[in-house]
Amino acid sequence: MIYLHIPFCKQKCSYCNFHFSTSLLYREEMISALKKEIFLRKDELQSDRLKSLYFGGGTPSLLSADELQSLIDEVLKYFSFDENIEITLEANPDDLDNNFVKALSKTPVNRLSIGTQSFFEDDLKLMNRAHSAPEAESSIKRSQDFGFENISIDLIYGSPTSNMDIWKKNLEKTLELQVPHVSSYALTIEPKTALNTWITQGKIKAPDEIVQHEEFFYMTALLKENGFDHYEISNFGKPGLHSKHNAAYWKYNEYLGLGPSAHSYNGREQRSWNIANNRKYIDLLSQNKLAKESEILSEKDQFNEMLMIGLRTVWGVDLSVLKDKFTAKILDHFEKAIKHKLEEDILRIENNHLKIPEKHWFLADGIASDLFII
Ligand code: SF4
Repeated sequence: MIYLHIPFCKQKCSYCNFHFSTSLLYREEMISALKKEIFLRKDELQSDRLKSLYFGGGTPSLLSADELQSLIDEVLKYFSFDENIEITLEANPDDLDNNFVKALSKTPVNRLSIGTQSFFEDDLKLMNRAHSAPEAESSIKRSQDFGFENISIDLIYGSPTSNMDIWKKNLEKTLELQVPHVSSYALTIEPKTALNTWITQGKIKAPDEIVQHEEFFYMTALLKENGFDHYEISNFGKPGLHSKHNAAYWKYNEYLGLGPSAHSYNGREQRSWNIANNRKYIDLLSQNKLAKESEILSEKDQFNEMLMIGLRTVWGVDLSVLKDKFTAKILDHFEKAIKHKLEEDILRIENNHLKIPEKHWFLADGIASDLFII
């Protein structure tokens, strides 16, 4: 699978610490550099038949449908597409106007991941989103009207401007709009964000973790009652409409990440990441040089990562893979570390997979890190 990072945004959301620029100055050069990187790194994937192509960001919906099509065409020069390929575009509601969605519906993009976040104006203003509450709703309807069925929306819970009543209404609206996939995250306060500054200055209160916990459980129960599979802590999809792209990450498949700041993984022991600087990325690619650094993951890193990722999913960690992959010393540590948690039903083994029971999923990161090798 291939991930293409489009590092531009209209404005900076108050909670975001991703890599992007609010200047589109280098837009054309960036597209050329991405095409060059597709060419230079085409042999890094073992398979030349893609099951997933993902435009993420930043805000890839800032590109025109023609620009997106030209990047898809470039990928097609070196890779064939599986007949069921998932081609996802992350899109912000304010970009999904009539002309754009119409043009997009004529490209091979067949899945939209819409950055809705909330259907309420107070939440959107605090988050400094570029869209309004009416646009949050109309962008979804418009996409459906133009034939997009495989739509995911992002929702954020636990904002200081929200409460359980507002959260319930957000979820009711989601069900009313009949979107088949939801990715939902608690608002977290990252360093170097506006939200962090406002909280430090006492201008707004910090998110309340107990409220977030309650909102998470309410969402889980409601979405499951309404036919969604809860297949990863933050992801819910109707059967057959889980994200193929993200599921492949969580199953440790290889992926190629192109564009500034994008990460890649060779499915075994090597991870690499591109420089998080648009100008330097473009300059290096214009000289036919790659803008990436790599590392070989130690056995310890691979073990910790396998637990951290696997225990967040409904599939858990495959114990036969774990036993094949790691030395006796690591497996001995593992057996000892899980013993008490199995007795306390914080972990379970089902069909030779280690899992966290869903009632403890909200604490999955902490449970996984208790098993780490430090
Ligand atoms: S649109 Fe997305 S990537 Fe851009 S600032 Fe907002 S959250 Fe971050």
